[in-house]
Amino acid sequence: MDQERSEAEWKEKLDRETHHVMRENGTERPFSSAYCDPKSNGSYACKGCGSVLFDAGAQFDAGCGWPSFDAAKESNRIKEVLDQSHGMVRVEVRCASCDSHLGHLFPDGPTASGNRYCINGICLNHSS
Ligand SMILES: [Zn+2]
Repeated sequence: MDQERSEAEWKEKLDRETHHVMRENGTERPFSSAYCDPKSNGSYACKGCGSVLFDAGAQFDAGCGWPSFDAAKESNRIKEVLDQSHGMVRVEVRCASCDSHLGHLFPDGPTASGNRYCINGICLNHSS
């Protein structure tokens, strides 16, 4: 829906740090997000386009410094891309609607899914 937004429009919509994370594949400082502590209810939407990406029920405290989830709200809400930057092979997580960077997916989650979506909290808006 929002793929056609220009870089100038993105810069206007997002503050500088959010823009850096979401549009330049940046990473927020660990433990800087108020969302590191799991919420007991509600859901998290993409700050770029409003698409609901994660339910609070899927969140757990991974102790890694970033909000962590064991599943997306619906698998087609997010996009997983092979990321070989910084000398590592990782799976990057992007918003399927607006193609903004969100974080990375690691296969070491503690729940049955085995997934740990490690997401920059700055990319999300929580609503209860
Ligand atoms: Zn989005």
